[in-house]
Amino acid sequence: MRCPYCGSTNTQVKDSRPSEDHTAIRRRRGCADCGGRFTTFERVQLRELTVVKRSGRRVPFDRDKLARSVQVALRKRPVDPERVERMVTGIVRQLESTGDGDVDSNIVGQLVMEGLKGLDDVAYVRFASVYKNFREARDFEALLGELSGDEEIVPASAAEGLEKPR
Ligand SMILES: [Zn+2]
Repeated sequence: MRCPYCGSTNTQVKDSRPSEDHTAIRRRRGCADCGGRFTTFERVQLRELTVVKRSGRRVPFDRDKLARSVQVALRKRPVDPERVERMVTGIVRQLESTGDGDVDSNIVGQLVMEGLKGLDDVAYVRFASVYKNFREARDFEALLGELSGDEEIVPASAAEGLEKPR
């Protein structure tokens, strides 16, 4: 696994344990070159999902991207990271249960709003206000892109957000 800080592939797993609900394995990793620490999650992927944009464009569903936009909405909110993980997993399972593996980008946004509503009012309002405004003018793609910064690599700060505070 490539280090998100320096790009080195000289990284090692320091610790490996299941998440609370046992739907994922969380691995703490360290980079031997720069000393950076980061976290990865291993999960079951039941099927390949394709997001269909309003423009008709088709892109592979990216769970990390979804999780990052949820993290942004939840920034500095006192929500148990395990609950956030379960919510994201729940959304993915719902998407996976749809007919042919194609999901409308609007459905993804709706499911995130519903999930946040049950999790944290402030995060819900943050996400909904951005999402609804963008829906007027732009594709949901633009929202996810702007919220996440559209990085290829998940910065450790985003992954750290999924961890329990020590
Ligand atoms: Zn490194």
